[in-house]
Amino acid sequence: MRFLNILEYPDLKLRIKAKPLSPDETLESIPLIKDLAYTMYKADGVGLAATQVGVNKRIIVIDISRKTVKDKVFSLEEENILNANKDLIVAINPQIIFKEGNIVYEEGCLSIPKFNADIERANEIKVRALDLSGKEVIIEAQGLLGVVFQHEIDHLDGILFIDKASPLKRSLYNASLKKSKVKKREKDVSYTF
Ligand SMILES: [Zn+2]
Repeated sequence: MRFLNILEYPDLKLRIKAKPLSPDETLESIPLIKDLAYTMYKADGVGLAATQVGVNKRIIVIDISRKTVKDKVFSLEEENILNANKDLIVAINPQIIFKEGNIVYEEGCLSIPKFNADIERANEIKVRALDLSGKEVIIEAQGLLGVVFQHEIDHLDGILFIDKASPLKRSLYNASLKKSKVKKREKDVSYTF
């Protein structure tokens, strides 16, 4: 399995709307799904969308069990990574078909390093998706699991949680990105000389 490169904001590839998979494509995508799960665990995330690794397919992986990395490593190198982690959820073509209530959670994102913000989302959701075998499943999720589903499905639509953060927080972060770019350039210049 490969550790995939995770795209970082403001990479425009993160804004591409991903395409649904046919049931046949579901089976063909298993090697990619293994890489996605592997990358999520290695990066110590609780969710990852194919969009975040530059793949234009509606696939997400989630594991909110928050086991320590050491606990997870038992199955990381195994070929059956997808079966070995019973807390791992793979959802293909996920669609929210029901939403109720509100919850505010402090979110972070592997594609937006060093940025956290309180985001309001639905507290209870139902998601219709295909599982690994291409079979349709309905998943009920609430609290953190529901939040992660909504965050990852947003990725598939090219939406980032920073878009939903307060305009002030967003502009401060954007300013800090510009600053770090300038710093890097100065450093490059000094190296050249
Ligand atoms: Zn994210």
